[in-house]
Amino acid sequence: MFSLTILGSGSAGNCSLIATSQCRLLVDAGFSGRQIAHRLESVGVRPESLDGILITHEHADHIAGLEVFCRRFCVPVYSNPLTAETLRRGKLAECPNWNLFATGAAFSVKDIEIQSFYVPHDAVDPTAFVFTADGGSIGFLTDLGYAPKLALERIREVDTLVVETNHDERLLQEDHRRPWSVKQRILSRHGHLSNEAAAKLVSSVAGHRLRRVVLGHLSRDCNRSDLALGTMQRFGVLGIELFCAEQNNVSPTFAVSGPAPSMIHQEINPIRCQSDNDHRAQGTFNFDWHVS
Ligand SMILES: [Zn+2]
Ligand SMILES: [Zn+2]
Repeated sequence: MFSLTILGSGSAGNCSLIATSQCRLLVDAGFSGRQIAHRLESVGVRPESLDGILITHEHADHIAGLEVFCRRFCVPVYSNPLTAETLRRGKLAECPNWNLFATGAAFSVKDIEIQSFYVPHDAVDPTAFVFTADGGSIGFLTDLGYAPKLALERIREVDTLVVETNHDERLLQEDHRRPWSVKQRILSRHGHLSNEAAAKLVSSVAGHRLRRVVLGHLSRDCNRSDLALGTMQRFGVLGIELFCAEQNNVSPTFAVSGPAPSMIHQEINPIRCQSDNDHRAQGTFNFDWHVS
């Protein structure tokens, strides 16, 4: 069964689990290694059983626990070359199992197919993903200032969409803690989606296969789940299951494939890692830092 569990999402940390019976992938590792391990164990997954961590971009709220997962659990990491280059300037230089994909290319890890595509955000080469397995698909779209046409095309056929609803524009404008320059950055075309921008995006792709939308990456100071969900409803996003992910709580596990959207709660049985070759994805290549 193809499933999605948001281990936590918000402006202070992001990490999600995408799984089939054969494969377990994290999208981002934006909590401490210990916190990610704890949250994984709460849904019955041993950290060392992961088949990979896919990195959307290098911001701290997406990579805070990456080093621990590389070092302690030897989980393979997948990113595009520019993101890898940026991250490997620091503590991650020693990470042994780094796999590169070209943004825009499709690759697979075990039975999960992954399509990556560019999104506009103030990072070196930010990406979003569509995951396909077992007849179902998940679009993963966070950290973007706006959705370019290509991104909309990529997510048009997904069953489940994770989309950021970062801020309520009024709360952001009224916020006294952030200087104007930071607000400008958030609101820019390389910043983050507001509730309203995300609702317009969802309504533009609704009516195809979309059955569930998971809202994520909410700003702690400048948004609330009731505002994000209410904006979706105000923009006529009806007949679609809506869920708002939280920073501090693990979401239910959503079954993505199958005849109708549903939440499942049974334990996902982990599969122990076998060898490095087993983890190497088709369509990616290992980054060899000793080759110029
Ligand atoms: Zn972020
Ligand atoms: Zn970011």
